[in-house]
Amino acid sequence: MGKKIIQMLIIVGLGLGFVRPGSASLNLDKLSSMDVEQVQNLLAKLEPLIKERESAQSLATLTFDELYAPLNEFEQSFLKEFQNLKGDELGVSIPFRGIATGKEELTVIKDQQVTINDKVTILPPQYLPPNVNEKYLEMVGAMEKDLGKRLFVESGYRSSAYQLYLFIFYLKNHEYSIRETVKWVALPGYSEHGAPQFQAIDFISANGISGEENPQLFEDLQEYHWLFENASRFGFILSYPKGKPGITFEPWHWHYEQSEVDSADGSRPPTPPVH
Ligand SMILES: [Zn+2]
Repeated sequence: MGKKIIQMLIIVGLGLGFVRPGSASLNLDKLSSMDVEQVQNLLAKLEPLIKERESAQSLATLTFDELYAPLNEFEQSFLKEFQNLKGDELGVSIPFRGIATGKEELTVIKDQQVTINDKVTILPPQYLPPNVNEKYLEMVGAMEKDLGKRLFVESGYRSSAYQLYLFIFYLKNHEYSIRETVKWVALPGYSEHGAPQFQAIDFISANGISGEENPQLFEDLQEYHWLFENASRFGFILSYPKGKPGITFEPWHWHYEQSEVDSADGSRPPTPPVH
């Protein structure tokens, strides 16, 4: 077949939506211009859904079925390529943590009140697995006893489908380089926010210091020092400590591990049956 004819077939195919534009596989260093267009197209298609879930304050529990529903077959297979990216092939040092379906049993945390820039603000509802929420409450209760202040949950559970959306959303901030984006945004399955076994909490102080903007401010908090001394008693661990190679220090991001609590008080519960 002549080159011209093939080109024409591709153009017709694109027009009809039969052919996925762009290369056969994603260029990890920099997406092709056609793939960039496809990402922008995806985001535009998904915008109504995301807006709706945002206003219903239920983005964190978005399922894969819901995320893929507004897309045609070709857009779905394009998005799937991002869903299937492997962290270890991209130099991600965080291990695969498992998929959060959005259907797990979760406790909703509502009406958390913090003061941001002198303005009293109610944080959007956050979700945590019930056992993690219990431990969190126990921990900040103890903190409040000691310091007269507590930390709040700025970000808790996040489904892997929402994580996938966040990943493609933030590509634009990193010149559409997948390799760069993974340094800042976790791939679905690689976030402790979407891993009920290693559930992460991003903390925010009562006066709105969350660290994302200025980690030093969070590090200077009395509450952070308290966590550093005491969090392990409650099973919470600093995930990205200072000075660990290949990792950005995140003083606000802690995760919960049941086994840590068990070893802290020396008594391990019997091993649950594996189902
Ligand atoms: Zn975090």
